[in-house]
Order: sequence, then C-alpha cells, then structure tokens
Amino acid sequence: MAAPLQFHSNLSTDWQELGLCRATDAAVFFPPAHFEHKPEREARESKAKAICSRCPVRVDCLEWALATREPHGVWGGYSESERKQILLGKRRAS
Ligand code: SF4
Repeated sequence: MAAPLQFHSNLSTDWQELGLCRATDAAVFFPPAHFEHKPEREARESKAKAICSRCPVRVDCLEWALATREPHGVWGGYSESERKQILLGKRRAS
C-alpha cells in the first residue's frame, strides 16, 4: 500500500518530466477507444497504479488531476472514479 498523501500547492507542470509513466505505454493509464469490460479495466488500472505507487511525483500528479478535473485515466495512483470520490469528499467537508 502506498504512503498517505500529503498535499501541497504546486500546479506547475515541471513534475511531468519526472513521471515514471513517461517511460511506459500510455495505454496502461488511459481507457481504450473501444468498450472496456470491468475485469480488463481493473487489470489495466492495477498496472498503472503499481507504477504510480513508485513515482516520485505522485502527489504533484494527483494534485494536478484534481485541480484540473482531469476526466480520464489514472493520475497519481487514482482512477477517474476514485478522483471523483475525493472531490466529492472535499465538497462535503467544505
Ligand atoms: S503518478 Fe502515475 S500518472 Fe502521475 S506522473 Fe507518476 S506514473 Fe505518471
């Protein structure tokens, strides 16, 4: 399991240069153009999350995806539906 996230404000894009996904097939991080069955999606997202869990810019990446309401893919170790849940939780808390 990944370490708990500690957010900070850094919405520059400098961190993208250090993302482990730069050396990985982007298809692991984003849904295909065709319909993806749940087991396929879960397998693909698991691979992406495993990469994210080792990524040195995971927090910046997640913060970016949340701030920009990135609608697709795994960012910072979270799928789009998981990010929606985080944002819903933030709205409820505020
Ligand atoms: S956290 Fe994941 S999606 Fe974000 S830069 Fe790192 S490897 Fe890429």
